[in-house]
Amino acid sequence: MNDCIFCKIAAGQIPSATVYEDETFRVILDMNQAIAGHMLILPKEHYADLYELPEDTAAAAMRLAKKLAHAAAATMDLDGLNILQNNGEAAGQSVMHYHLHVLPRRRGDDTFPVWNERTASSEELTQTAETIRKGL
Ligand code: AMP
Ligand code: ZN
Repeated sequence: MNDCIFCKIAAGQIPSATVYEDETFRVILDMNQAIAGHMLILPKEHYADLYELPEDTAAAAMRLAKKLAHAAAATMDLDGLNILQNNGEAAGQSVMHYHLHVLPRRRGDDTFPVWNERTASSEELTQTAETIRKGL
């Protein structure tokens, strides 16, 4: 992808604060640090989102997230950690190259978008589970 900023960063054509690199991934610090230590796992191949991502790369990305979580916990002052991944504009994705956010958390930090809780009836839950199962 010629015009993809994350392809260029992952390939090292644009400088970045790189935390980790291997054949498949580059891990950088997000230029907008939602919180200190906010990292992005970028596959070097271009995949727009989770739907395009091959299963083995998805599994490897999550293994890498675990490695980074341990590294952050060992070296930074943190109380928790979120893994976040947006797919599609409606879900808040702004760069259309798959990436996984790794977000250290500190008690009371106010960083993560919270969602509104909506009570659902057990009938609704049963029906929705049935709907999604049809796609498996
Ligand atoms: P998302 O909203 O999930 O698509 O996240 C995209 C993230 O990429 C945002 O948190 C941006 O701050 C970050 N970002 C965009 N451009 C760059 C860049 N050139 N270097 C580092 N991070 C970037
Ligand atoms: Zn790309």
